Amino acid sequence: MLQDIGPGRFVNHFSFQTAADEDFALVYQNDSVLASVIDGMLRIPKVREVRELIPTLSYRYCFTIDQDRYFFADADSEGIEKDSDKALSFVPSREYRNMGPMDAVFACCVGESLHRWHRNNQFCGRCGTLMEYSTAEQAIVCPQCGLTVYPKICPAVIVAVCDGDRLLLTKYRGRAFKRYALVAGFHEIGETIEDTVHREVLEETGLHVKNLRFYKSQPWVLTDTLLMGFYCELDGSDTVTIQEDELSVAEWFHRSELPDNHSGISLTGEMIERFRALGPEQCLSQL
Ligand SMILES: [Zn+2]
Repeated sequence: MLQDIGPGRFVNHFSFQTAADEDFALVYQNDSVLASVIDGMLRIPKVREVRELIPTLSYRYCFTIDQDRYFFADADSEGIEKDSDKALSFVPSREYRNMGPMDAVFACCVGESLHRWHRNNQFCGRCGTLMEYSTAEQAIVCPQCGLTVYPKICPAVIVAVCDGDRLLLTKYRGRAFKRYALVAGFHEIGETIEDTVHREVLEETGLHVKNLRFYKSQPWVLTDTLLMGFYCELDGSDTVTIQEDELSVAEWFHRSELPDNHSGISLTGEMIERFRALGPEQCLSQL
């Protein structure tokens, strides 16, 4: 999955640090990152290289992978000359997320989420003052009224609804993503995450479920989301009534006939493949 960068170890304990020339620079402009691409492989530049290209950027510490420190910077208002030597250019998110190596892609995706958070919180939502980075934690603080804004993380569920050897697959309406998926939806304030599972399945498909089994979570940083994956059992009628403004398709597939055109980096894809490989008993047993 997207976050599986082993053997590299991702450490995001925050401490205030200053960027040095040999650190990695995650520099964003809108939804693109500054990088070079060689044979489908993404290369993140060092701070030194970016300083030669855009000397005015200020850097914020993000995280470490193994011994390598990563800093991010906003270049939304910066123009760059084409860098012919190193071929650095702004690579759109929708392109680099399908490249390799996985540690570089994951680093760019996490940095992209931090960039979005910063870009969307430049001014205090309470008093309008220009916000500043905290030196104590990964937060943005208003120097006037003290409002503290943390990185945006939205909890959501991915739900594999099982009925014996059948699994319910969906397709979402009106999105670029046209492949099969599982029922999914965002947590709403005031409910438990188990309530979210029941509500989303009922809203999207008209089905009732029971015997919820948490499987795994995934930081889906591309949309600032923390996904929590559940397997569960159909409870009652198997007749699907789709929520037409959300879904275009919701169909039962026998385990032996599950399509494989789902995303390879997603929790959804892993959960479908796990149901295919292990079947309902193991997926619905306690982990
Ligand atoms: Zn304020």
